[in-house]
Amino acid sequence: MKTVLEINLQSLEYNFNKIKSLVKPATKTMAVVKANGYGSDMVAVAKKLEKLGVDYFSVAYASEGVKLRNAGIKTPILVLIPQTGSFDEITNFDLEPSIYSFHFLNEFIKYTHEKNISNYPIHFKINSGLNRIGFKENEVEKAFELMSNSDTCFIKSIYSHLSASEDVNEKEFTLQQIKSFEKSIEKILPQLSHKPILHMSNTSGIINYPESEFNMIRCGIGLYGFSNNLSISLKPVHKVLSTVSQIIDVSKGESVGYNRAYITKEKTRVGIIPLGHADGISRSFNKGGYVIINEIKCNIIGNICMDVIMVNLNKVDAVEGDQVVIFDDKNTAEDFADSVGTISYEILTNLSSRIERRIIS
Ligand SMILES: *Cc1c(COP(=O)(O)O)cnc(C)c1O
Repeated sequence: MKTVLEINLQSLEYNFNKIKSLVKPATKTMAVVKANGYGSDMVAVAKKLEKLGVDYFSVAYASEGVKLRNAGIKTPILVLIPQTGSFDEITNFDLEPSIYSFHFLNEFIKYTHEKNISNYPIHFKINSGLNRIGFKENEVEKAFELMSNSDTCFIKSIYSHLSASEDVNEKEFTLQQIKSFEKSIEKILPQLSHKPILHMSNTSGIINYPESEFNMIRCGIGLYGFSNNLSISLKPVHKVLSTVSQIIDVSKGESVGYNRAYITKEKTRVGIIPLGHADGISRSFNKGGYVIINEIKCNIIGNICMDVIMVNLNKVDAVEGDQVVIFDDKNTAEDFADSVGTISYEILTNLSSRIERRIIS
């Protein structure tokens, strides 16, 4: 027994089909596989989705796209947050960059001229209110003019990103974002001789805002089985299992772990579990975090170490070698995240490369 991360490709397929059933049949699907497929195994996930007929992939940085190409992925890949130092990777590996700022656009124009590249497929990123990357509504025309004059870019898609699609209290803001995106589109479309793909919704946008569907959806967390506590049933793809490596009996009043952060309140059986903050279990889990052993919640005690955590076994009948569930499809990564006030995205993407991946197909 040791710590493993199981990646269930059947659950991935179920989620992919479930999400597609929520949108019009003609709507394209972009699978977001950045950050190693939300901490899973980007290549295994992309290969499975390519077989299932996904239309597009997106990654955050060019290096992630290179990894997919090197693994033989042929589907188009959008690079969401490309940097000016990545133009060679982008053009050599047939990756499609977002164009999101004047600085980036001008550098891209310079580069493509030097290399004699024209009509390179790009994705025009609009900032409709998230205030992260993208052109604001009043910058769209100028950016478009620069692109057209230089003959550098073929606008494959126009897209924007929602800030609070999971929060029903922000409905007014979200509808305003959709309106702003539509206005930006109207400034560009009449000047084009082709119809670019339009896309705006992430997972919770797909569920809460059909208005944001346009003709492609960008689905990340939903493919991995989470919907930000919204009521659609998906199946978690990630399962992290470990083992009780050793059990130590500690008397009342002794300290456990580094800095003596935990003092036992009674005679305590302490279980040592072989994963720590180097594996992605943040030190914040020393307050309220737990694992499941033989169906019983066992609290994490003391400071999380680099390579192990200690848990209180007083409530469970456990022996060395027993299986430990960090999270699975019943005790989910979302529950685990909730226990310390973070989100499933962070828990999943923190799972480090040291944890062995086991693909379940
Ligand atoms: C990460 C990301 C997504 C995926 O969002 P989910 O909530 O995981 O579905 C979509 N679009 C952009 C621009 C992103 O950065």
